[in-house]
Amino acid sequence: MTQTKEERKAKIKARNKKYQLTHRKEIAKKDRQYRAAHRKEILERKHKYYCTHRKEVLAHNKQYRIAHPEKIRAMQKRWWAANRDRQQAYKKQYLAINREKIHAKLKVYRTNNKEKIAAHKKQYYLSHRRELLIEARRRGIARRIQQKIIVFNHYGHRCVCCKEKTQAFLTIDHINRDGSQHRKTFKGSIYPWLIHHNFPKGFRVMCYNCNCGREQNHGVCPHQDRSKK
Ligand SMILES: [Zn+2]
Ligand SMILES: [Zn+2]
Repeated sequence: MTQTKEERKAKIKARNKKYQLTHRKEIAKKDRQYRAAHRKEILERKHKYYCTHRKEVLAHNKQYRIAHPEKIRAMQKRWWAANRDRQQAYKKQYLAINREKIHAKLKVYRTNNKEKIAAHKKQYYLSHRRELLIEARRRGIARRIQQKIIVFNHYGHRCVCCKEKTQAFLTIDHINRDGSQHRKTFKGSIYPWLIHHNFPKGFRVMCYNCNCGREQNHGVCPHQDRSKK
């Protein structure tokens, strides 16, 4: 019994399908090799197709985007991760070249949209209040630590009395015991004040213990009384 044309076709189709299923990896590898070797041709062919079928391609792309938003997002994420440096370099370059243009544009936008910007800022603050406060606190702590380091770099990193050197225990001591009067002359912390006034004389580093001890012992840390005995 001889096969009909249809039967033979079906048989070949089935064989091809079976081959595809069992040789997936090889096929994918060959595919990849082909794409790598014929990159230019493929791109040209694609471009040609795009030029002649623009509307269909765009419609199809749009449909795909709507149908698979998670795939698109994943793709974008992958792309960003792979091209991050390139993108940032490009952005930087663009900003450097067009600095004045961008600034002028922003200025115009800001003056024309004052209310909108204020409303947006307020909305953002209200919806991110918690994070913003935590971030502000974190930055404040970091700034104060930095200021302390700058001041201690000048006045020393140890208590002048007991030689304690753990930074969290250290403070600034007013040698003439005029701290309360001095603090009335400015607002906020003493560290920025010292930096701003270029590290004047009359201050030294002490630990809180010695500082308080001195305050309660007529200007002399109890450590010093003990060492005299
Ligand atoms: Zn001390
Ligand atoms: Zn002491």
